[in-house]
Formats: sequence, structure tokens, C-alpha cells
Amino acid sequence: MNYATILQDVDLSGAAISGGTLAVHTPVDGSKIAAVAETPLSEIPAMIAAARDAFRQWRTVPAPVRGELVRLLGEELRAAKEPLGRLVSLEAGKILSEGQGEVQEMIDICDFAVGLSRQLYGLTIASERPGHRMMETWHPMGVTAVITAFNFPVAVWSWNAAIALVCGNPVIWKPSEKTPLTALACQKILEKAMARFGRAPRGLSQVVIGRADAGEALVASRDVAIVSATGSTRMGRAVAPKVAERFGRVILELGGNNAMIVAPSADLDLAVRAITFSAIGTCGQRCTSLRRLIVHESIKDTLVERLRKAYASAPIGNPLDSGTLVGPLIDRQALERMQAALRQARADGGIVHGGEPVTEGVPAGAYVRPAIVEMPSQTAIVAEETFAPILYVMTYSDFADAIAMHNDVPQGLSSCIFTNDIREAEFFMSAAGSDCGIANVNIGPSGAEIGGAFGGEKETGGGRESGSDAWKSYMRRATNTINYSRELPLAQGVRFEI
Ligand code: NAD
Repeated sequence: MNYATILQDVDLSGAAISGGTLAVHTPVDGSKIAAVAETPLSEIPAMIAAARDAFRQWRTVPAPVRGELVRLLGEELRAAKEPLGRLVSLEAGKILSEGQGEVQEMIDICDFAVGLSRQLYGLTIASERPGHRMMETWHPMGVTAVITAFNFPVAVWSWNAAIALVCGNPVIWKPSEKTPLTALACQKILEKAMARFGRAPRGLSQVVIGRADAGEALVASRDVAIVSATGSTRMGRAVAPKVAERFGRVILELGGNNAMIVAPSADLDLAVRAITFSAIGTCGQRCTSLRRLIVHESIKDTLVERLRKAYASAPIGNPLDSGTLVGPLIDRQALERMQAALRQARADGGIVHGGEPVTEGVPAGAYVRPAIVEMPSQTAIVAEETFAPILYVMTYSDFADAIAMHNDVPQGLSSCIFTNDIREAEFFMSAAGSDCGIANVNIGPSGAEIGGAFGGEKETGGGRESGSDAWKSYMRRATNTINYSRELPLAQGVRFEI
């Protein structure tokens, strides 16, 4: 597929994508496809001020009317699905169906947010005082900065933007420096929706193109009410204290180190499919990718054998070719980090199957054979998130040990168990089971639906986005007490007569 055609098929009119200082390389073959203009840091305060002005207006627009803008965004995304999905594949190196799937996720969250715009419910609370009523009201919070990672270059923005917009907040997006083109394309799509809507204030949605320092400028500003940041735990460690210092609000979606427990009763046909998709899909570059397999010792050899066969049958190659299942890593540095992790695993006594760079029959990008590594125990390298297709396999004999090993890593994003034993399944989902934000039974850890709240604990950052009541993170809650009596009784029976 011709790169120029992919770029021409999306609307990037008016965006400076050549002659700029930010070089964009496609992971497909490492070649340079654009040089995008970076937003001067000196312009960011004025952008934040424009967003503040937009907020003053947007917060007074009734939520269901704000929902109409997001409904139109969903329509525009439906129309742009194919070309935008192809651009995701070109810029992030995802296979075509995953690029399309990412745009479908954007459409799904728009539908969710439109319904939500009529359901921003507060509670009515019983008052202890006669002639009084209590209730909660949810109000827009303010300017929302959305900082995103390369691996979900468009979906994560839409989870945030669709919900933030119906909640009454303007959005400033700082996409990954590796994927600015898809961000510029999304902004164009939203601008089309805004033009049809006709009542969107200037500054409601803006994009800052740049690197970490552009993100830092948003993080530092007292006029940015919410910082929703998706990326590595390293980034979260830098962002969280800065926002805390000024008592701002963060929504952090950081690294994962997701595991599956495979019990003796598991349906291995299902498990093999789930493991293969979640460990090697997106070349192991999903925050929810499966990285650790904790398998009962009685079935380990059978399972590893079946996985090696399944891995061997997954075509590695150009993500723009329809038969490919495993595309490239994002860049050479990612490949080097993967090789370093495998060297460490070997030094720790691991037996490595696969993992070598692939150069034949593929373009010049960072292609690798996904690795299965049989580990003697869960060593320090296993407890790290290496953003590449490495699946560490450990064994257990006692279920309690499997749970302990499962939780004994710093991250807490996604998890799952394959079992047909209802006691094990229920225990895994109980308070004493998986400590992750997502805990699945007989389904892999990746590929979440937008209807649920998405996010995780510990070094994953604790944020929740997308469905369920994650919208509450984008609004502020006011508790109201109304006195409709002719008395002024005090709470807790306090007497204060004057
Ligand atoms: P990254 O941390 O390198 O970059 C993410 C974003 O943060 C980029 O836009 C970057 O410019 C910005 N950034 C970096 N340092 C910053 C700072 N000090 N202040 C403000 N902004 C800063 O991550 P990446 O390599 O693009 O993505 C991979 C990582 O993202 C993995 O760890 C993956 O698990 C994680 N991720 C998590 C989720 C989730 O929902 N939990 C989703 C996708 C990716």
C-alpha cells in the first residue's frame, strides 16, 4: 500500500506536516513520512487561556446539547473509519484490522457518551433535619489536558474527549511525539462535527504537538483542572507530583504487567487462542498485553508446546498486508529493550523460545519473532513491563501460590484466569484474589469493551476511563442542602440560640 495515498485519504488540510521539526517515521519500514510543526512552548499559555474562555461558555450549554456535538463526532468518525484506521496502521504499525478496531472503539465511546449526556445523575440523600432535602449535583470541572501514548494513538483521546465534552470540559490534547499525524486527523474530524454543530466555542478542542516538555507545560498550569495522562509509569511518576503540588486532578493510565493463571481444569483450546491474541497481538505493545503466564505444573509442557505451534503459525510482516497478524515494534529502541530483557531472562535461568529479530521477508522496520520464556521463578525482569512480545511462563502447584505470584508485581492493570472450577474463578475475582483493575474469567486480559471502567491499581496509576461511572472523574460534585421549613435546626442536634 502506498504511504502517500494513505496520507492523502485523510483530511490533514491546514496542518503543517512537512518542513517541521518533529520527524514522523512509520514503524512499517522506519522511513520518514512527515516532518510536523511543533507547537512553540510560548504559545501554550494562550491555548490554555482560550480553553478557559471556552469552558466559561461550554459549561452553561445543557449536557444533552453537548451530547449532540459528540453524536456528530461519532457520525464523522463512521465516515472516516477506513482512512483513519489505515493512518493508525501506518503511524503506529498496527495490523489493518486493529487500526480499524481502534476507530470502532472511538465510535463506540461516542455512542456511550451521547447516552451519558442525559444521565449525569446525582443522588437525593435523606436529611436528618425536618423540612430539609439533600442532593448531589455534578458540574463541569474545567480544562482537561489529555496526554496520550503511541500505542493507542486515537482511541485513548476519544475515551477522554467524548466523556470530557459531554461533562462540559474543553480538551487540550498532547499526543505522543511518535504519532502526531493521527492526532491532527482526529482534530480535523472533530472540527467537522463542530462546524455542523454550530455552537462550539473557539478553543473547545486543541492539539499541542510536541515532546515531553509540551506535556510538562500543560501539567504545570494551574488553569488545567484535569490532567489525564496515559503512558509509562516513568511518565506518571514525573506528572503525578507536579499536579498534586497544585492540588489539580489526575487520571493516570500507566504501565501494566498482565498475567493469566491457567488452572488444570482450563479449556486449553480457548486458553491457547486467548494467550496468542493477547501476548502477540499489536506485537505485545498493548498496555493490557499478556506478559506472564502462571500455569499449573501438570499442564505446563502441553500448553507451552501448543503455544509454540500457535506462535509459529502467526504471520509476521508488513502490517498493511491483509494476511499479517504480527506487525513491527514501534522502533529500534523497543527492539533493543526487548533483546536486553531476553538476555537478562537467560541470565536468570530462563529458556527462551523465539525472540530474535526478523529481517527476511519483511520491510526494514523493527520486526521480531514473539518470545515464550520458561522461567524458573518470577525474577526481577519478569516484574518489569517490557513493551514487546515476551511471554514469561512460570508454574505453580498450589492455587494460593499462583494468586500470590500473580499479585507480586508493581503493576495492577489487567488479569485473568482460565478455569472451569467455580471456586477458583470466584476467588480470583474476590477481595483476596487478583489486585488488578480488570479481572477476567476465561477471557484474555486485552481487548476491553468501552462499557466498563478501564484502568488499574498500584503503578498503573489508579485512574479509570471510558465506561461505567468513570465520567465522575471529569466533573466536580457539589452537595446541596435545601431548607424549605421555617426553622433553622442544626445538624447533630447542636443548639446555638441567639
Ligand atoms: P511514554 O510514557 O513514553 O509517553 C506517553 C506520553 O507522555 C507521550 O505523549 C509523552 O510525550 C508524554 N510525556 C512523557 N514524559 C512526560 C512528562 N514528564 N510530562 C508530561 N508528558 C510526558 O509512553 P509510550 O512509550 O508512548 O507508551 C507506552 C506506555 O504506555 C506503556 O508503558 C503502556 O503500558 C502505557 N499505556 C498505558 C495505557 C493504560 O490505559 N493504562 C494505555 C496505553 C499505553
